[in-house]
Amino acid sequence: FQYLETENQDGVDVESGWPSTGYVQIQDFRMRYSTDLPLVLDNINLTIGPGERVGIVGRTGAGKSTLLLALLRMMKPEEGTITIDGIDTSKIKLHDLRRRIGYIPQNPALFSGTIRTNLDPFNQYPDSTLEKALQQVMLMSSSKADQSYISQTLSLDSSVAAGGENISHGQRQLLCLARILIQKHKLILLDEATSAVDVRTDEAIQRVIRADQEQTLIVVAHRLKTVATFDKIVVMDSGKVVEQGSPSELLEARGAFYGLVMNSKDSSDLVARITGKSRM
Ligand code: ATP
Ligand code: MG
Repeated sequence: FQYLETENQDGVDVESGWPSTGYVQIQDFRMRYSTDLPLVLDNINLTIGPGERVGIVGRTGAGKSTLLLALLRMMKPEEGTITIDGIDTSKIKLHDLRRRIGYIPQNPALFSGTIRTNLDPFNQYPDSTLEKALQQVMLMSSSKADQSYISQTLSLDSSVAAGGENISHGQRQLLCLARILIQKHKLILLDEATSAVDVRTDEAIQRVIRADQEQTLIVVAHRLKTVATFDKIVVMDSGKVVEQGSPSELLEARGAFYGLVMNSKDSSDLVARITGKSRM
């Protein structure tokens, strides 16, 4: 970001369990990166229920990553409010807000250290918990059987270079996912990176996501397959929400989402998944 103004750390205290359900309401939200630039979020209205799995799709530059950043209050809105579990996020201490939401950026960086220090920087969890999370995201094998499946198994003591440069982009995202699993966030924001997420990585993420439906999950997806079986799809274009609804509703509506599906290479597979006529 260009401006390095100190962020205001004031705010009300929230309960230690906040957010306990992950109920997100975005109202009349408008934002621009600077006064001389156009709106990047243009009158966004969205309600995301507790435990809902929502896929954000749309062309590059549509404002998908910006929408996730707005939930973390990375910049001031021009207008509008965001509440999480009924609390206006602009009133909460920034530190609390960002610690209580699980977020995986499009291009995550890691700290130099080890896998252990990256997963558990404050040394709060036993190794067994950390290892279980690594197994869930397929970065560590849990049995002989899946050793062949995992390209490179990591151990808690594997070293991590500054920024995570010695670990692949997809692995960095998986490691962040493992960190989020350990912390049991009720609201998870995942900004999927196309180039990084190969099919296996995507499947690992899917399995983890499916296993635990107690969390509200907002996923920016470049591959429609990732979100084809989600509860809701939000299509963005030029900073606006142009369509929202269940995948099957939107497919029937023959609008923007339908267009994206039909223009995908795997359109017939997508249609099968969405209409439930697939083995998955
Ligand atoms: P992609 O699919 O490529 O990740 P996106 O939908 O996530 O795209 P955003 O990153 O949210 O798109 O960007 C939305 C718009 O805001 C784009 O026009 C982009 O150029 C602009 N933008 C993003 N970050 C900044 C910034 N820090 N300063 C100024 N403009 C920005
Ligand atoms: Mg993006």
